[in-house]
Amino acid sequence: MDTKIYNIDNQKPDKNIIEEAASIIRDGGLVAFPTETVYGLGADALNKDASAKIYAAKGRPSDNPLIVHIAEFADFLRIAKEIPREARLLADAFWPGPLTLIVHKNEHVPYETTGGMDTVAVRMPNHPAALALIRESGCLIAAPSANTSGRPSPTLAEHVAEDLGGAIPVILDGGEVGIGIESTILDLTEPVPMILRPGYITVEMLEDVIGTVKVDPGIIAADSSIKPKAPGMKYRHYAPKAELIIVDGERAAVINKINELTDEMHAKGKKVGIIGTDETVAAYRGDRILSMGARDDEDAIARHLYRILREFDEEKADLIYSESFSTPRIGHAIMNRLLKAAGHQILVV
Ligand code: AMP
Ligand code: MG
Repeated sequence: MDTKIYNIDNQKPDKNIIEEAASIIRDGGLVAFPTETVYGLGADALNKDASAKIYAAKGRPSDNPLIVHIAEFADFLRIAKEIPREARLLADAFWPGPLTLIVHKNEHVPYETTGGMDTVAVRMPNHPAALALIRESGCLIAAPSANTSGRPSPTLAEHVAEDLGGAIPVILDGGEVGIGIESTILDLTEPVPMILRPGYITVEMLEDVIGTVKVDPGIIAADSSIKPKAPGMKYRHYAPKAELIIVDGERAAVINKINELTDEMHAKGKKVGIIGTDETVAAYRGDRILSMGARDDEDAIARHLYRILREFDEEKADLIYSESFSTPRIGHAIMNRLLKAAGHQILVV
């Protein structure tokens, strides 16, 4: 199939383009669209055949549930069994925005959308074009990240085209996304609300609104015997094709170690990629050296991560060494992705 790629103005998307995309969704088809977090691959969340197409296009395991995107709080009532008090407080504080809430589902939500679970994940994206698409379609839109399963999430429409070009009818191209890592997922079906995936909305921000919040031990553990509660978090993910190793420690020691490892690899005829920062890139000897941005600009680091992981695939690096990014506010979310991409290979110097 031919994939049409439409440039859109994120703030004021062309009405005709939104109408065309919305009619594809209504007819049970797929549309990739930008959100503030990453690009999503959308389908009618209440149509089981439409949801099934998402899994097929991504090669996504069928037990990995989808996030349902809504445009008004009232849409939440159409899919939740009940709305917990915390959900209202959090929606008031953070919606539209990068927070996904998990609640018990009602009978309208097909198990194809929830990966067989009795709960449903819901989010209202902070993106006028995404909201316009949801509203115009009259549907609730199930949308996981618009990448082939296992690859880094798309932060540019070009990434979507790389993975899904030829497999879906339309990609809405809104340029580079604003945040660059997926939403925080909070499970409200637990006795104490639990973060299943860290993101831009931090524990502290959530606790300011609803009090104590726990973090799923499965997402912090390097030990793969502790299973994360969000089914999607157990899969190797966000992964570049080359092996990735994180080197953590004082700046000078990290630079020395990465240069030493690079020399060893060069002696074996291997191509080395390096992920550094504006402050350090000049100090490395790799074949391709990319900067995540200034070390104290956490937002830039989050926004650049997936693009950089993809760039190394094109470069065909044999091995990638990365600095560590345990930055103060969203470092937890950034390192969660980087550690998964690295298969938890971390070298402390
Ligand atoms: P993605 O849309 O690619 O960011 O993936 C959606 C994520 O949400 C995956 O990690 C899923 O496992 C998680 N998720 C979606 N629905 C649920 C649910 N009902 N319970 C737990 N995790 C969920
Ligand atoms: Mg994903």
